[in-house]
Amino acid sequence: MAEETKVKRKRIAATGMMKKIMADYFYEMDKAVKAGAPKVAWCTSVGPAELLRAMGFLVHFPENHGAMLGATRTANDYIPLANAIGYSPDICSYLTSDVGAYLKGETPLSKAYPGIENVPKPDVLVFNTNQCRDVQDWFGWYSREFKVPIMGINTHRGVREVTKSHIDSVARQIASLVPGLEEISGNKFDLERLQETVDLSLECSQLWRQVLETAANIPSPFTFFDGTIHMGPAVVLRGTKTAVDYYKALLAELNDRVDKGVAAVEGERYRLYWEGMPIWGRLRDLSEFFAHLKASVLASTYCNSWIFDAFDPKEPFGSMAKAYTLLFIVRSDEEKEKYIEDMVTKFKLDGIVFHDSKTCPNNTNSRYGMPERLRESLDVNTVTIFGDLNDLRCYSEEQSKTNIEAFIEQLERK
Ligand code: SF4
Repeated sequence: MAEETKVKRKRIAATGMMKKIMADYFYEMDKAVKAGAPKVAWCTSVGPAELLRAMGFLVHFPENHGAMLGATRTANDYIPLANAIGYSPDICSYLTSDVGAYLKGETPLSKAYPGIENVPKPDVLVFNTNQCRDVQDWFGWYSREFKVPIMGINTHRGVREVTKSHIDSVARQIASLVPGLEEISGNKFDLERLQETVDLSLECSQLWRQVLETAANIPSPFTFFDGTIHMGPAVVLRGTKTAVDYYKALLAELNDRVDKGVAAVEGERYRLYWEGMPIWGRLRDLSEFFAHLKASVLASTYCNSWIFDAFDPKEPFGSMAKAYTLLFIVRSDEEKEKYIEDMVTKFKLDGIVFHDSKTCPNNTNSRYGMPERLRESLDVNTVTIFGDLNDLRCYSEEQSKTNIEAFIEQLERK
């Protein structure tokens, strides 16, 4: 492995605003739990957050907490505790690290936000299996632990064409949550409030798309690694004006970078796509390593997963069902490949980095010949890195960097 020159990430000024928004979000939830109102719902990342917010719940996303455990490199302290109660080291390491941290009575929230001692206790747990079955098991564990109701939506998987029957089935399931949520929240369902929330989610999603698409410029002002940090409000605060205002500010800053020709990676020579989960505990290291190779990893399936073009406030239930079923992870390999082909053209990419994430087969697309098929159809180079979202025992830094260097050399020779 060649000697590595350390390259610092370029700071985005809006980061300060985002940190304040995220702090306010967690403190508001902590205050609500201590006061007993408003009620708190836990929701999977692409669960029916708009409905929960419109019903007056504050919404906690355990996957966001899982990502914090990964990013703070504490996940490996906790995974064995979940393994000890029967949750395998081979299943989702968000699940095992989150449950393990709970069992140990610790959370990275305490360090980031003094005064917060625990994750916010839920009044209800609401999942959508559009991403995987693990979320149902994960929420099921907490439902038994906290003795609170669990409810959810079961989505079709491996979908080639999203049809009316898929959408109707999911829309009916979302609507059927309303009576139970009314009872738990003590609030009556208000269609107008749901429409307003869906409208705000749509606006947030459109702005997030524009933010990500600034990366189509040469040089790119924004990387996948930046995206994993700045996606926070799109994940936990979609459906609020706070998230909309944040992305307006971020977009203005990135457009200014584009006007001035500012590159996120100085001397950008190679433009890459990241397919799969982030390796949360190695984000900084990987971003600096790619930057030292003059490679800008500037687009990804992961960050794009919070773009929901289908939201329509006129049809809140149907459009939520459609948006949450059109999701990349729900689709067949044929559809996923078409999607990535479009990305390669739109972002003028030279290559694709696949992350084979040991404990998340659902967000791993390198195991059934996809890299080989894309190499043939697109004439792009690909590399597969073996690792994990949170369990760093599955990741070899030396092996990965050697593979990435060899991949960049191939691009150089092209
Ligand atoms: S999609 Fe993967 S990372 Fe996300 S909850 Fe499911 S198994 Fe975990």
